[in-house]
Amino acid sequence: MNTDSQATLKSRLPALFLGHGSPMNALADNVHTQAWRRIAEQIGQPRAVLAISAHWYTEGTWVTGETAPKTIHDFGGFPDALFKIQYPAPGDPVLAAQVVQRLAHTGAQLRTDWGLDHGSWSVLRHMYPEADVPVVQLSIDARRSWPEHLALGAALSELRDHGVLILGSGGIVHNLGRVDWRGVQGPPDWARQFDDWVCARALAGDDFALATPTTFDDAGRLAVPTPDHYLPLLYVLGSRRAGEPARIVHRGFELGSISLTAVQIG
Ligand code: ZN
Repeated sequence: MNTDSQATLKSRLPALFLGHGSPMNALADNVHTQAWRRIAEQIGQPRAVLAISAHWYTEGTWVTGETAPKTIHDFGGFPDALFKIQYPAPGDPVLAAQVVQRLAHTGAQLRTDWGLDHGSWSVLRHMYPEADVPVVQLSIDARRSWPEHLALGAALSELRDHGVLILGSGGIVHNLGRVDWRGVQGPPDWARQFDDWVCARALAGDDFALATPTTFDDAGRLAVPTPDHYLPLLYVLGSRRAGEPARIVHRGFELGSISLTAVQIG
């Protein structure tokens, strides 16, 4: 455990949205993974993490209730080394029950057949490499409106006062049909433009604009062809308290247009 982490733990933890990029970042040592490590050191060691991953996009609201969640390798076509990774962080059934209670109006229920998908462990492996912080995952209910996802973030916000780090893991710009697999091009204008716009709206506290996809321009429609990677951001923004600052704690792209931009509340 990092002593800096212990020393900087604050009474109310920030909430954090990370663009996780390619699963290969789990194995990488690059500007993005180094940023995740630095951000985690600045936040400190939480009592537990509540992760909202783009890769648990479901019908219904589900919460992982395991004491020892398994590491899910929910991808194909990657090297064996990626499939061999285990991230043996414990679960936290008490926190899971609290999340279910706070989201009771949604019909949220515990599940023990999921675990930690790569949206969670590929970033947590860098943030908390000892895997000594308990992790609970909350699924994203695909049937809910975008303002409802913001409201769920608000309903969970108080957990931040009890040592829980709310971690959204997805990507502001995530269009696999537009990826430059050779990774030689910089981000196209539309990707940079939408990433810039989201950052500006987040800094301004304009949750309404960020949760109203019908007003997105052409760049936004290209950046968010499906909601799964964008919606974790709304949970983090929804957990913001009156007067709390938002900060853009990392900017970056990979494979051309995939955004790894990170937004921190508090
Ligand atoms: Zn992903």
